[in-house]
Amino acid sequence: MCRHLGWLGRPRTLASLLLEPPSSLLVQSWAPRRQRYGTVNADGWGVGFYVSDRAQPARWRSARPLWGDASFASVAPVISSGCVLAAVRSATVGMPLEESAVAPFTDGHWLLSHNGRVDRAVLPPARDAESVVDSALLAALVFDRGPGALGETVVEVARRDPAARLNLLATDGTRLLATTWGDTLSVLSTPDGSAVASEPWDDDPGWIDVPDRYLIEVTPDGVSLTSLAPDGQESA
Ligand code: GLN
Repeated sequence: MCRHLGWLGRPRTLASLLLEPPSSLLVQSWAPRRQRYGTVNADGWGVGFYVSDRAQPARWRSARPLWGDASFASVAPVISSGCVLAAVRSATVGMPLEESAVAPFTDGHWLLSHNGRVDRAVLPPARDAESVVDSALLAALVFDRGPGALGETVVEVARRDPAARLNLLATDGTRLLATTWGDTLSVLSTPDGSAVASEPWDDDPGWIDVPDRYLIEVTPDGVSLTSLAPDGQESA
């Protein structure tokens, strides 16, 4: 995925997260401000979210551009969640163009999005991958290893493919985990909750740019950053 976002906090409507901000994911699908690879994100979009008393996330994905989805625009103002993960896709050359190749991927409990690319040859074959797209194989590996080991998995994959770009975003409904490895990411903490996004969706001065090669964890208690470079550790 070329641009993704996550929200953990007070329930918000999907419209307020994906469609309404001045530089929302919707706007980022045709006019991203910080995208380093690709120009538009028109190869599909997806959103996953959790609702109370249900461990399994709900998911809506499409192989079409977000801007053309009038049905989603109609229901998005009345769907609310306190934990949301969404993405718009710019397909890597050679990857399939189909709904099953669009994030978020899931193992039935976790949701995962990948902004970047990785050589599929360095990933183990995954029986339960949702698609042959590199991101789905990577998601299957992360689910297999346990998403709690996200940082370790990213470092290991990068060792096998030094050209890989591995900005990942994952959630189980109670926390968000993200990595920066080759692309942009920003975080915003508000009294209502925290957001993680490939790029800020507005000009709020509270957005903080995350340096490259970091693991970000968002819980109801706040945001922590850990360097994925050997020996680095930091909190914010
Ligand atoms: N490699 C992934 C795909 O083809 C993600 C692409 C991206 O981040 N632009 O869908």
